[in-house]
Amino acid sequence: MRLNICEIFYSLQGESTFTGLPCIFIRLSGCNLNCSWCDTIYAQDESESMSIDQILQHVQQFNCNLVEITGGEPLLQDATPVLINKLIENKFKVLLETNGSQSIEYLHPGCIKIIDIKCPSSNESNSFLTPNIDHLSLHDEIKFVVGSKKDYKFAKKIIETRLTNIQPANIHLSPVFGSIDPSILSAWILEDNLCARLSLQQHKVIWDPDKRGV
Ligand code: SF4
Repeated sequence: MRLNICEIFYSLQGESTFTGLPCIFIRLSGCNLNCSWCDTIYAQDESESMSIDQILQHVQQFNCNLVEITGGEPLLQDATPVLINKLIENKFKVLLETNGSQSIEYLHPGCIKIIDIKCPSSNESNSFLTPNIDHLSLHDEIKFVVGSKKDYKFAKKIIETRLTNIQPANIHLSPVFGSIDPSILSAWILEDNLCARLSLQQHKVIWDPDKRGV
């Protein structure tokens, strides 16, 4: 089986509860959404076909057992669940970042899903596949990228009504980089005593925000 790969690189995790840890990123090509603030538009077009064995050999070159599969939208490719299984079989800890529009039901239970539920300012807030909530495990994480007060209220409502079985530490509110000041989002969270974590995109603080491969 083969996958369309945009890039594979080694860097520090910039988001999620794994922030700051060395991690290998496998970015798959193609996406079904068109978020207004997308920072990986290049993943729509750039693509190299690789077999699962080639991908495994590539990631085994790094001295690291944490792998994140991201995109684009990784679950658009039929071979992605097979890649996840192969990596787990080979003792990697696997994170999968997905936009939540595709079913996560049959993924390997050891895979840690990080689901980005799109808020209104993305223009894709109808994309989330609601039954995915029923297939979340205790170790999975939810992210909302917040660009406005409307986005915050949208996220708050879902957190308080639908995500009551998710650990608060695994629910992330992340400001749209360069669009909303983190202090404003922090104030809203504190004002409401909202059980969620403020998450900054650490890689954009450390490196040039437009730099790729980090
Ligand atoms: S889902 Fe991700 S990759 Fe796709 S358009 Fe939105 S931000 Fe970009």
